[in-house]
Amino acid sequence: MHAEVISIGTELLMGELVDTNSSYLASELAKLGIDLRWVSKVGDDFDRLKGVIDQAWRRSDVTLTTGGLGPTSDDMTRETIAAVLGEEMTVQEDLLEHLKGLFAGRGTPMPSTNVKQATLIPSAVTIDNPVGTAPGWWVEKDSRLIIAMPGPPRELDRMWTHEVSHQLRERNPNVAIVTRTFKTFGISEGGLNEMIAPLFESENPVLGIYSKVDGIHLRAIATARTDIEARELIGPMEAEIRSAVGDSIWGEDEETPESQVATLMKKRRQSLGIMESFTGGILASNLAEVPGHREFLRGSIVTGSRDVVERMGVPRELIDRFGEASPEIAE
Ligand code: AMP
Ligand code: MG
Repeated sequence: MHAEVISIGTELLMGELVDTNSSYLASELAKLGIDLRWVSKVGDDFDRLKGVIDQAWRRSDVTLTTGGLGPTSDDMTRETIAAVLGEEMTVQEDLLEHLKGLFAGRGTPMPSTNVKQATLIPSAVTIDNPVGTAPGWWVEKDSRLIIAMPGPPRELDRMWTHEVSHQLRERNPNVAIVTRTFKTFGISEGGLNEMIAPLFESENPVLGIYSKVDGIHLRAIATARTDIEARELIGPMEAEIRSAVGDSIWGEDEETPESQVATLMKKRRQSLGIMESFTGGILASNLAEVPGHREFLRGSIVTGSRDVVERMGVPRELIDRFGEASPEIAE
């Protein structure tokens, strides 16, 4: 099953709003083993939106849209889907009653522009949205799907998690995707590439290399019928990476430099005090993000001032000899 995501809204094209919805859906689709082939952003323009939806309808099994379900005239997702399928939108009395009820609950009359949120086309059914006014549309025709969801990330998240994802999983069973990330430091991207060059030719698992702030990451992605089979596919590749890269791997998957420090401190039953200059305390702040940091992190002094260091009881001659930012002074 292959999919396409369309993020709708002119603000996305103005640099005003970062399109987090498509990244969210991309990571969710990967978990379901659905092959995401295209992501596009399109403004609130009827013809352009219709063009993009029409193209998606013709080339993708599943098209997921976010945005453009609001009540205002620039929200045109429903209208364009109707136009692409050549179907007519009609107001559904039960939806209208429900919508009026929502406004009555807020003590305000419903603006007439909201009526379109109570419409459907023959190929669509609504998708519940208990955290907003706009229901989604589940459109199914000729064994293709368009799933139109709201733009606000909170509403999208809820609709995806509670209404959409399990239905897609049922249609795409027996696909498991397992990802393993090996985080390295000290070897350049090119150097790593050279060390394990043949592995990059593997198709399953497929191996990627990414430069990140905490080093170079190697990521293996395996696809199989079950989780266990996917893990088994990664096994030999992992062994080869470990034997070639060895100690330059400092962590895996969700591990961070600070979580690794915490693990080591706890294992060795050691405690840590920090003195930081010129960092604004970022070292202590990162370590304090790790759950359970209180077991080992005793405290931190953030200062670059000789006077402060001296007032904390460090003899002036030591400060003069080693400088205020030095291991000797910290000790
Ligand atoms: P809309 O349904 O198009 O009127 O969008 C409503 C609101 O949802 C926008 O004003 C944004 O705050 C948010 N939103 C819409 N699309 C996205 C997106 N792709 N990524 C993140 N937020 C979005
Ligand atoms: Mg909009």
